[in-house]
Amino acid sequence: MLVCVAPLSVISAEPGRESDTPRLRVGVYENPPKIFLDEAGQPTGILGDLLRHMADREGWQLEPVPCLWQACLSALALGEIDLMPDVALTPSRATRFDFHEVPALLSWSQIYVAAGREQPTSLLELQGRRLAVLQGSVQHDYLMTFFTGMDLPVRWVLVDSLEAGFKAVLDGRADAVAANQFYGDQRAEGTDLIRAPVVFLPSRLYYAATPGRSPKVLTTIDDYLDLWRNDPGSLYFETLRRWEPRRASGPLPAWLWWSLGGLSAMLSVALLFGALLRRQVQRQTHRLQESEQKLSTILNSVQAHIYIKGTDFRYQYVNQKVADLLGAPPEAIVGCRDEDFFDADTCRLLKENDGRVLLRGERFSNEEVNRVKGQKAPHVFLSEKLPLRTPTGEIYALCGISTDITEHRQIQEQLHQLSFFDALTGLPNRRLLLDRVRRGLSSSARTGYDGALVLLDLDNFKSVNDTLGHDAGDRLLCAVAERIQRRLRATDTLARLGADEFVVLLEDLALQPDRAVVAVRHLADEWLAALAEPFALDGAPYVISVSLGVALFSDAAEDVDTLLKGADLALQAAKRLGHNRLQFFNPAMQVAINRRSQLEGALRQAIESRSLALHLQPQVNTAGETVALEALARWEAPGLGTISPAEFIPLAESTGLIVPLGEWVLEQACAYLADWQGDEQLKRVVLAVNISPAQFRHPNFVAHLESTLERSGCPPERLELEVTESLLIDELEQVIQRMENLRAHGIRFALDDFGTGYASLSYLKRLPLALLKVDQSFVRDLLTDPNDEAIVRTIIALGQSLDLKVLAEGVETEAQAKRLKALGCTLLQGYLYGKPAPLERWREDRRLTVAPTN
Ligand code: C2E
Ligand code: CA
Ligand code: CA
Repeated sequence: MLVCVAPLSVISAEPGRESDTPRLRVGVYENPPKIFLDEAGQPTGILGDLLRHMADREGWQLEPVPCLWQACLSALALGEIDLMPDVALTPSRATRFDFHEVPALLSWSQIYVAAGREQPTSLLELQGRRLAVLQGSVQHDYLMTFFTGMDLPVRWVLVDSLEAGFKAVLDGRADAVAANQFYGDQRAEGTDLIRAPVVFLPSRLYYAATPGRSPKVLTTIDDYLDLWRNDPGSLYFETLRRWEPRRASGPLPAWLWWSLGGLSAMLSVALLFGALLRRQVQRQTHRLQESEQKLSTILNSVQAHIYIKGTDFRYQYVNQKVADLLGAPPEAIVGCRDEDFFDADTCRLLKENDGRVLLRGERFSNEEVNRVKGQKAPHVFLSEKLPLRTPTGEIYALCGISTDITEHRQIQEQLHQLSFFDALTGLPNRRLLLDRVRRGLSSSARTGYDGALVLLDLDNFKSVNDTLGHDAGDRLLCAVAERIQRRLRATDTLARLGADEFVVLLEDLALQPDRAVVAVRHLADEWLAALAEPFALDGAPYVISVSLGVALFSDAAEDVDTLLKGADLALQAAKRLGHNRLQFFNPAMQVAINRRSQLEGALRQAIESRSLALHLQPQVNTAGETVALEALARWEAPGLGTISPAEFIPLAESTGLIVPLGEWVLEQACAYLADWQGDEQLKRVVLAVNISPAQFRHPNFVAHLESTLERSGCPPERLELEVTESLLIDELEQVIQRMENLRAHGIRFALDDFGTGYASLSYLKRLPLALLKVDQSFVRDLLTDPNDEAIVRTIIALGQSLDLKVLAEGVETEAQAKRLKALGCTLLQGYLYGKPAPLERWREDRRLTVAPTN
């Protein structure tokens, strides 16, 4: 995408002009969506926004001057304002104002009428009707010339704003109103007015300036328009698209065809008129000349190429537009053939089309691409050609009308490109993809062949942008797209959905879903291999990883949303598994997701209403006496039953609920400890509380703990915090600092689940730890797996050398306990000594045997 930061006028500086940061008084008349004032009183709409984009870059100060159209033009002529948007270039205006060269906007005029009334199908049918037009507008000029030229009476309703014209029709004071299609389509929307199939006066709109006042501004406007109109990603197209009226898509707007109908109706009448004139030729030679002149005025004022060719394919008549196109006066063209003006390919095509009309009497209406000799760019025409017959029915000539739609076509294509393709990679965007998915699903339903949607997401793409810059990020995305694209079949679609998310649509994979799965795996393996190769970014090799989520058509019941959601769930699952993983959607995922969101809501409520519980599990010495209790959270969810901490703790961690949950556990634990101070036995017991990494790192953690200790009056030296090795992965210094601060209060630390994580010896030495808890996975198979025994032995030795106590978790049998004690383990915890249970149970029926000293 083109990003234009430097003002263009600096790039193409010319000496000797007006001041460098001009103040521009801009005439603004209400003509949405082309130009109008926004709420802040600034010009907006297509032409207003474009001007503001330019002004921002150039440092122009825009001073909007609200005015009515006619008054705006007069003010411009008088130099009371400097610039006026939305002005079509006419010969008379060319003498009164300065114009730039590249048109800012292409526009057509339309007739709007009340729905339900008889609709005119050509301008001629407006004869005798009340027609509202904006006084002094190009439509006014044109229609005036047209109707007077044709000698057709029209009842003019002259208005001084387009709004007044539309209102006149709505109030029944006029039968029709003429307006540019931008304004008209927008104004008619939601009202009883509709667009009649009558189009006329294609025009190019410019910013007009007071003569001689702002030549540099006009050149700069041209520079921007030139640059922007060649770049589909530019502000120009962004602006057009923002203001585009919602209109039917398709290669050609239907109204263009209608306009041809209108034009040809007009032409037939003109020809008839000519024939009548010829009949009167002997009688009224003088009147004939006058009328022929009238006719030629009309034909020359029509914005279309009109010509008559004889059966010898030689021109018999051309209007001024044809003369302009071919670069010769009409007299010089008459008698010539296409070969004299067009290149060979064009001539072949014209001959064939014309032949159908001249030899077979067909009526031709279609697009023609014509290239004039010596001109670089071809013109695209919409051509309508009819045979002309003598009274006995013989074809003696062809009459053609060709409307030049080249520019319109270019803009259409660019808009199409913009709305269906991603500007960075040129790949189809979400909109186009959805369309193809829809079609893919319905074709799969017909053929029975399964397909798949594969979402592909770059892992940690953000870090590329952050460390190497956005340019490098953009280049990486393009390179990724290219590598995948090269490995696709012709029928597959690769699209870009967003930042670093791509999607591949695979159709016609196999008849059976399991075969389709195999096919997807095969393809995905190829992509993974291709993407595993380093990318060259800024000269250095860069390695990425991706995650892939797949949903099969057969899982989606022909529904696009279901398919996308399925692929997305699969992608999330793949991401959780780690890098370079591929995951297929399965219905269990959906179930899991539903349950997760249900649980999240319920957990939030449980925390708020303090309806979680704490159970306690004893930790014993070799004599079997309790030295500590571990607090374990329990949740009985109404309607959902008992939810295991193995399920709700990870959920709380991933949703941030772990912070309020952990705060509640600490408050509860401190309340217990404070309470126990009055109990002979319990006052000797330590209470261990599990602390999740996210909770420990939370900025408020220490403050909350300190205030809880103070408020409860609990002895800090009886509180033990169990942290896991994952806390030590990063920002170790900060973590140590925090632990030491708390240690200074007397709080003790245990390292939970030891042996499963990352801790290295060098860390261990620096942490203020009191206890290592051997993870229960090593205890489980201690008696059968020599590896586990070796690990436990090592941990115990490590503890001794670092002067740390070692506790074994998950002790279920006497045999395990015996072996652990033999290995030198002095503390034990597990079902053998008691399952986690509420405090009351320990106090009442079970009775703890608390160690005499601790
Ligand atoms: P943990 O900290 O490793 O807790 C020990 C787990 O082992 C507890 O599971 C306990 O019931 C279980 N256990 C104890 N003895 C035995 C035994 O002999 N055999 C077997 N098979 N299991 C035994 P629980 O209560 O389901 O808790 C699971 C995990 O949830 C805990 O693992 C801890 O990581 C987390 N958790 C529980 N409560 C809290 C809490 O309040 N805060 C935080 N952050 N995490 C908690
Ligand atoms: Ca624990
Ligand atoms: Ca543990």
